[in-house]
Amino acid sequence: MTLALLHDQAFIDGAWAGADTGATFDVRNPATGAVLARVADLAAADVERAILAAERALVDWRQRPAKERAKLLRAWFDLITAHTEDLAQLITAEQGKPLYEARGEVAFGASFVDWFSEEAKRVYGDVIPSAGRDRRFIVLKQPIGVCAAITPWNFPLAMITRKAAAALAAGCTMVVKPSEETPLTALAMAELARQAGIPAGVLNIVPSKNAAGIGRLLCEHPVIRKLSFTGSTAVGKLLMRQCADTLKKLSLELGGNAPFIVFDDADLDLAVAGAIASKFRNSGQTCVCTNRIYVQDGIHAAFVAKLTEQVASLKVGDGAAPEVLQGPLINAKAVAKVAELVDDAVDRGARIETGGKPHALGGTWFEPTVLSGMQAPMRLAQEEAFGPIAPVFRFKDEAEVIRLANDTRYGLMAYFYARDVNRIWHVLEELQFGMVGINEGLISTELAPFGGIKESGFGREGSKYGIEEYVELKYACFGGL
Ligand code: ADP
Repeated sequence: MTLALLHDQAFIDGAWAGADTGATFDVRNPATGAVLARVADLAAADVERAILAAERALVDWRQRPAKERAKLLRAWFDLITAHTEDLAQLITAEQGKPLYEARGEVAFGASFVDWFSEEAKRVYGDVIPSAGRDRRFIVLKQPIGVCAAITPWNFPLAMITRKAAAALAAGCTMVVKPSEETPLTALAMAELARQAGIPAGVLNIVPSKNAAGIGRLLCEHPVIRKLSFTGSTAVGKLLMRQCADTLKKLSLELGGNAPFIVFDDADLDLAVAGAIASKFRNSGQTCVCTNRIYVQDGIHAAFVAKLTEQVASLKVGDGAAPEVLQGPLINAKAVAKVAELVDDAVDRGARIETGGKPHALGGTWFEPTVLSGMQAPMRLAQEEAFGPIAPVFRFKDEAEVIRLANDTRYGLMAYFYARDVNRIWHVLEELQFGMVGINEGLISTELAPFGGIKESGFGREGSKYGIEEYVELKYACFGGL
């Protein structure tokens, strides 16, 4: 297969560049193991050049009228959309998700560029009623400056646009370190940004195998004023510590441990469909994937039966093949972790309804799995599985399930299914999560604020709030009037 938009060099200051040392690293297709490209493996000195290019580019970019930035972002959006198929092929090749999901990611990722191209024009300041006759108060909103982004592999395109489009719209410039598993989509997006006319240095993409070293540089570099990170909670905490010395602003989108609660009065078919959508998308490899399914006594048997039947029929295979709904996991480590969590649950008394082991296809596939008889002490109750495992817990009443759902250090996403209005309001208010899906299993959209509380991090992406993460407030007092 020839992949259009395939680039293997870094994108710095508007040009393609290798590492000074000439080093490269392999990017593989998780479905076949084939090497897709040997990508420039940047060292700190290379990344330093990108940071300084972003600093130079900032001078002009921040001063442009928002409408000019908006037009360039719009041109980028149009190119991304026009290249949907090429980008989807690239995403499936390096990340593994089925093509139809990859196309969905392109549309989802592009929607942030569309949205923020419009929001660029709506960064309003304030005029504050004065305290005296001789003075006036105003508040300006100004771009923070040079920003850095560190992004994960599960959405190689959308996790970049969600940050970069907001940053660029606000007048910031950016250096993006994509995941070493999926740098190709990021580099393709840089090519489209170049074609759109986004000026040199405004968006730089710096692939590197040395995530820890480059991460430290981005955190400690005094020119960078803000870091936006999506990834694991452990790495997020490390980055926050590393950012302390330069007091950088931070947005952290970290791990989740999403409960999915089905009350007796729920619509069964809707709940099963929602559980599958929220659990098995991207083979369970999203931070908002359902992690723990709590089902009330009265509906438990019917729910488990229906869920099991549908999960058992999910078509597993290479994401590039037609009709495949479940691609491979990203790497062997991911499979080992999933297998370990299932074994732990089974050892402590959980029952395998379907699946439960590495798939006969071999490689990094794992069988779509349903477990019942789950109990709170099992590891799956506390750890993010990041795989196609649906563990079902049984509960008696509302108070009990709210306590169980909130009994986690994470607070990203929760889902629940019910029809009683009083119950819906009460449960919504009691759940300690940044986002809640009510009778809905897929709720991410560029229109609404995405983000978590507790150890899932802070900051919001998308929506009218997303651009606020990239501006500073400046209060000015006009005296002597
Ligand atoms: P995941 O488990 O989803 O791979 P990670 O947090 O490991 O989550 O990865 C998310 C991003 O963080 C990737 O771009 C990865 O390269 C980067 N990363 C991993 N370890 C570090 C680190 N020590 N410092 C900075 N970035 C890191």
